[in-house]
Amino acid sequence: MYQSFFIKTYGCQMNEYDSEKLNDLLEFNGYKASNNIEESDIAILNTCHIREKASEKLYSDLGRLSKFKENKKKIGKKMHIIVTGCVAQAEGEEILKRNKSVDYIFGPQSFHKLPKILKNFDNNKVYNDFLCEDKFSSLIPSRSKEVSKLVTIQEGCDKFCSFCVVPYTRGAEFSRSVENIYAETTALVKNGAKEITLLGQNVSSYESSVFECGVKKKIKLGDLCQILSDIQGLARIRYLTSHPIDIDENLLNQHQINTKLMPFLHLPIQSGSDRILKKMNRKHNRSFYLNLIEKIKKLNKDMAFSSDFIVGYPGETDEDFQESLEVIEKVRFASSYSFKYSPRPGTPSSLKNNLIDTDVVDTRLKKMQSILNKYQREFNLTFIDKTVEVLFSGKGKKHNQYVGRTPHLQPVHVFSSRDIEGKLLKVKLESLTSYSFHGKLSA
Ligand code: SF4
Repeated sequence: MYQSFFIKTYGCQMNEYDSEKLNDLLEFNGYKASNNIEESDIAILNTCHIREKASEKLYSDLGRLSKFKENKKKIGKKMHIIVTGCVAQAEGEEILKRNKSVDYIFGPQSFHKLPKILKNFDNNKVYNDFLCEDKFSSLIPSRSKEVSKLVTIQEGCDKFCSFCVVPYTRGAEFSRSVENIYAETTALVKNGAKEITLLGQNVSSYESSVFECGVKKKIKLGDLCQILSDIQGLARIRYLTSHPIDIDENLLNQHQINTKLMPFLHLPIQSGSDRILKKMNRKHNRSFYLNLIEKIKKLNKDMAFSSDFIVGYPGETDEDFQESLEVIEKVRFASSYSFKYSPRPGTPSSLKNNLIDTDVVDTRLKKMQSILNKYQREFNLTFIDKTVEVLFSGKGKKHNQYVGRTPHLQPVHVFSSRDIEGKLLKVKLESLTSYSFHGKLSA
């Protein structure tokens, strides 16, 4: 009888990727994925530490799981409770102290050890090395047939932005080998993937090497995009998330010449105020960011941008906030994420005491989001009546409805009596609901 497992994933796309890899690894080792956490033999929580209340959410889920475990025990069955991801890395021992029913803790770079540990039960309960190399060399080729796939190429970060836990939970920057990434992408494309998103906490810092005619050649993100674009059947490449200071000429050149590299870039700025950018240790100022955007637009006029903004960073004045709005007005982002500042334990900014009044932060955030929404709508409206290429990834909610994405990641719904999943087709965009288009397939 197979042991069953259930993975609950919190947070970002890196965690989604890790959960998928852990799923493949467990299935490869003879375990069976379950769709019911209560009944599973192994319950895995893949946690995220980026947003506020991550640990509270974890402890409340652990409370529920402990009860399931108790109930199973009463009928002579077992349940293993495993915590992985960034909260596991940051609070490993503390989790074990607070919830005695947890069996193992794995940091994000150690989860590949789980199948082995489950087979040869170990007294050690916490695994939190920073050894990416081991993790990537243990991965099992994905059998997924999805059209759009994530491929992690880099983990960790050396930037140490003052509000961010990533350098502490994912460790120093590590880049996966070109051969490894190429092999995974080729396998995904063979299975039907047409689009890949190269993932990393700081993906633009990617740096590896290959040997060409016996000579070692440095490979940066731009080179990697070029190398991967040679894979037949791969139609689209994206990457996420970048730091502005790592966007080099090599990558810019790819945005100009590589037609498989999509003209949409998520480029976080966090604040438009030089004073706050300095406090955040972002290592660039506002004019650097704006010049970079201009430079990219000159190289490729189709480029559109999204960003991240933190509102209410400690010490943020009305003038600082106004400067963030000015950046939004200047760039007119195609979409963006904006969040209230929340202190992450262990980060330098969490020690600051000049916190901004919550009502002020709420008002600022509301104002920012309404401006961001306005520009997102304006951007989308420029596509009405245009014909664009859409990659269809699945079915919609209605009969004969399909859903896909444009090169700028805008969702599109169409009706089709033939199966168009996995197809890249031209669509005339006819109308826009809040964030998605309805269109007609072009003849
Ligand atoms: S660059 Fe990104 S991942 Fe790195 S510390 Fe800053 S916010 Fe965190």
